[in-house]
Amino acid sequence: NRSDIHYFGAGPAPLPTAVLENAAQVLLNYRDKGLGLCEISHRSPEANEILTNTKQALITLLDIPDDYDVLFLQSGGTGEFSATVYNLVSIWVEKQRAKIAAEVGDDEAEVLKRLRSVVDDELRLDYLVTGSWSLKASQEATRLVGAKHVNVALDARKSNDGKFGRIPAEDEWTLTPRARGGPAFVYFCDNETVDGVEFPAFPKSLEGDDAPLVCADMSSNFISRKVDVRKYAVIFGGAQKNIGSTGIAIVIMRKSLLPPTSKSASPDLLRALNLPVGPIVLDYPTISKNNSLYNTLPIFDVWVAGQVMDRLVNNYGAKKIGGQEEVSNEKARLIYETLDKYSDLYRVVPDKTARSRMNICFRVHGGDAEREKAFLAGAEKKGLLGLKGHRSVGGIRASNYNAVSLEGAKLLVSYLEEYAKAA
Ligand code: PMP
Repeated sequence: NRSDIHYFGAGPAPLPTAVLENAAQVLLNYRDKGLGLCEISHRSPEANEILTNTKQALITLLDIPDDYDVLFLQSGGTGEFSATVYNLVSIWVEKQRAKIAAEVGDDEAEVLKRLRSVVDDELRLDYLVTGSWSLKASQEATRLVGAKHVNVALDARKSNDGKFGRIPAEDEWTLTPRARGGPAFVYFCDNETVDGVEFPAFPKSLEGDDAPLVCADMSSNFISRKVDVRKYAVIFGGAQKNIGSTGIAIVIMRKSLLPPTSKSASPDLLRALNLPVGPIVLDYPTISKNNSLYNTLPIFDVWVAGQVMDRLVNNYGAKKIGGQEEVSNEKARLIYETLDKYSDLYRVVPDKTARSRMNICFRVHGGDAEREKAFLAGAEKKGLLGLKGHRSVGGIRASNYNAVSLEGAKLLVSYLEEYAKAA
């Protein structure tokens, strides 16, 4: 029975039971129309209302300013690894083209010649690689634009025995110097789901008047803490952890990066420069212009996300996402405190300075596979599910997403205590 278990899966992740109960109902019959939510048109007034409501809930929770747009795509988080590259490279190229054209006039051949050399010399995408998801994003960037244009400004494994688990000091990062035009963008993953590493705060070296465009993957810590949206060019995340069901990704994007203020390079120009032309369904200007309805948006997933966020809006009132942040922090604190109390038995994987509040990764008995299996079996007996670490790193991972209740976290703590005392 659902009420007997607590699920700590990393994504898909638990959803509030009340939302699922309503979901079951609206799947059959939405607002007494006799039709279910997966059957109605994405262009119907009902769908539009759902879209508007979900957007508004996110805007309210995160205090998203007016000069930001919210987009819904079917890309998954992984699709956004590509979308960020396609879109921001294209904007960068068009900006360079316009600059050169202003100098040389309409001699197209000359513009292209100069642009080729600017792309060759100056196009750099900076990646902060702090775990397996930012690694994947950097690999996708390399696949799309070539290694020469990708600057891994930080590979956190290098100073940590080849493993992810800490975020080195910013003076060790090798960002493309701003004096040299800076990077087209800097990319980081705010919370690394597999490795349990989270940025404690926005990096200082990415601030300031001439700060580069910053893209952040917030798939696994979306709406779990306050975010100063203005510091980012693009924030994205798959919905299937803190926000809702699998099927949509959400992008929060600075409007000045969209038309009419910013333009993208034409497909012909990108081809002439040997740069990739992205699929239309990942094209931010197109998605924005069409209010996320360029093609068939899974409105049911948007509805689930809206329901989940409406609950937070109602629960936390004026505190908005700050209310959820307090609860998230408290749950994480209780669990880490217990793990640290029995540090002979439990070893938290990441460094204390970069511990994720969302994905709590640890080893039991020094990582002895058989004994960790027994630990997991004992947890399952108590209804504590989904605690197995990612297949690439093993160990234990307790994902502490918003729908994990304080009660669930406390039951996990009790089990950790009990197991440690018996060990
Ligand atoms: N980024 C992060 C931080 C993730 O945790 C995940 C998925 N677990 C992804 C990206 C990829 O998302 P998707 O599976 O939706 O493509």
